[in-house]
Amino acid sequence: MTAPENNPLLAPGPLPAFHAIKPEHMEPAIDALLGGLKKATARLLDTNQPPSWENTLRPLEDMEDRLNRAWSPVGHLHNVADTEAVRAAYNACLPKITNYATERYQNELLHRTYREIAGSPASMKLGPAERKIIDNALRDFRLSGIDLSPPDRVRFKEMKQRLSQLQTRFEENLLDATQAWKRHVTDESQLDGLPETALALAAQTAAREGKTGWVLTLDLPCYRPVMAYAHDRLLRREIYEAYVTRASELGLHDGRWDNSAIMDDILRLRGEMARLLGFKNFAEYSLATKMAHSTSQVLEFLLDLARRSKPYAERELEELRAFAAGHGGPSSLAAWDVPYYAERLREQRFNFSQEELRPYFPVPVVLQGMFKLVERLYGLHVKAASAETWHPDVRFFTLHEADGAVRGMFYVDLYARPLKRGGAWMDECVSRRRREDGSLQLPVAYLNCNFSPPVEGRPSLLTHDEVLTLFHEFGHGLHHLLTAVDRPSVAGINGVAWDAVELPSQFMENWCWEREVLDWIGRHHQTGKPLDDTLYQRLRASRNFHAGLQMVRQLEFALFDFRLHTEYEPAQGRTTLAILEEVRRQVAVIDAPAFNRFPHGFSHIFAGGYAAGYYSYKWAEVLSADAYARFREEGLFNPVTGRQFLNAILEQGGARDAMELFVAFRGREPRIDALLLEYGMAA
Ligand SMILES: [Zn+2]
Repeated sequence: MTAPENNPLLAPGPLPAFHAIKPEHMEPAIDALLGGLKKATARLLDTNQPPSWENTLRPLEDMEDRLNRAWSPVGHLHNVADTEAVRAAYNACLPKITNYATERYQNELLHRTYREIAGSPASMKLGPAERKIIDNALRDFRLSGIDLSPPDRVRFKEMKQRLSQLQTRFEENLLDATQAWKRHVTDESQLDGLPETALALAAQTAAREGKTGWVLTLDLPCYRPVMAYAHDRLLRREIYEAYVTRASELGLHDGRWDNSAIMDDILRLRGEMARLLGFKNFAEYSLATKMAHSTSQVLEFLLDLARRSKPYAERELEELRAFAAGHGGPSSLAAWDVPYYAERLREQRFNFSQEELRPYFPVPVVLQGMFKLVERLYGLHVKAASAETWHPDVRFFTLHEADGAVRGMFYVDLYARPLKRGGAWMDECVSRRRREDGSLQLPVAYLNCNFSPPVEGRPSLLTHDEVLTLFHEFGHGLHHLLTAVDRPSVAGINGVAWDAVELPSQFMENWCWEREVLDWIGRHHQTGKPLDDTLYQRLRASRNFHAGLQMVRQLEFALFDFRLHTEYEPAQGRTTLAILEEVRRQVAVIDAPAFNRFPHGFSHIFAGGYAAGYYSYKWAEVLSADAYARFREEGLFNPVTGRQFLNAILEQGGARDAMELFVAFRGREPRIDALLLEYGMAA
């Protein structure tokens, strides 16, 4: 056991000492910090002095930041260098961290202290960040049931626990049902049309099971290519049916993993929980932490988008029908025909694949171009710097003001490798914080992707989709790094409403479609030449392919989720399937077969955090498109517009209401026109 003074997680410099952190440091550090935090909280609350921001909440905020600074590298190593020892240490710490958060919002003494401070005359003199922290805390106490009578509080706690079990069960059933289906194929001609990569995957699955030939599964890397490429219509229907009946009463093995009852229990409990806290329904409860302020506002938003995009979806489907009929397809397209013919039409129209663009996007050029964009937009400079990291491939950069002062720092870890989790994400390493002596703790971010690593003598080459991913995560990173808020709880992405937090990230994606920016980020790794006009035009045109069909599909999910959490009332016939049926009549253009049980696999809302929040995807997209439209109106690289975006949105973090910030930048509330225009769906 290391002595505390030799534990690198307890001796923070400006950056975590990644070269020195060992798994055996993790649990002792978290234990020491949590123990100290609990003791200090008790001491802070046990005083005769009237509580204030300075004497109580500020020290608490500082200690919690200390905990976060130790926890961040632990969680990060679990994500990017997950050895058995790291995983064990992480798993030992996780319940302790979660418990701390739960207990914090059930601490009545602490709650009273927040209320006293909020009601004191001194609170009027606090800055917007401090006031927002207090408001958020009072809201979170309330949402954790602190105002309930003792028996109701017990019930509330039971319901929460039950809900978390049910959500886990939902996910487990879905996983088991997904894994239970397999289709062994021995005749290769049945798989005609499948791309090499999909065939190789299916052959690999077969080999792993000691079989010859190919084995198809319902995992997305297998399911998607079969639906889009397999010429065999019966095979597509078979895999489609297996997929959309997963975890339902119509699923395999006599509905052994049927989620129906679990979904009903989840919806009933969510409704009860919300009503216990004084909300009309769960959708209202969900909005308590979001930018949208009423259920009717969300419904109108979704229906408005539906009204305006449905005609485009109908036209696209009509065109697809005609195309299919002219290419030996059925006269009426079934759900298992749509992806297949859509892919044929796409091939014919654009004659272009993501792979063709790879040579134009070598990582060093893309990074350089991305940093140039930041310079043009905000007058800030990015410089390569050195730091101890967790892997030799990781690069480190500092972000500077025009006068050279450092504003923040970030790690860039771009390549897939063993022991690193999949996907792309941004994480906070250190939050910006004004110390008591007035000095500044600088923010630090991690940017993580899973691109293919460079090979001998050749840089890593990205597809355009991957470039979008990198810009997206960098957008989150800039939100974290460019914050001007000095209090960690509402600095950067902290405290930002769920449906607004994707604004800076999606905003960055827009730039990847501009000719000028493409010239910075896209240069052939051998010839140094930018994309020629033909390739560029194809790339642009492919952006909006079937935009209408995709839009109404997302709206179907979002409306179903939102109405379900508003209207569910099985005793009155408002069942899950009845509501789904209505939503489909409202917005869908493709007929779903009667056996489709899509809700039984909708884990975003039944197992994840998107309950009554799936609309956030579209909501944030509207914000980012509308914000970007101002750049179009005033000149893409207009420095005044860039400065104002920096000042009004990026620097403000969660210290002010998201709508207020948007209005400060745009001069009005968001409108959906810009999004429709981006998608080629403007009237
Ligand atoms: Zn994101």
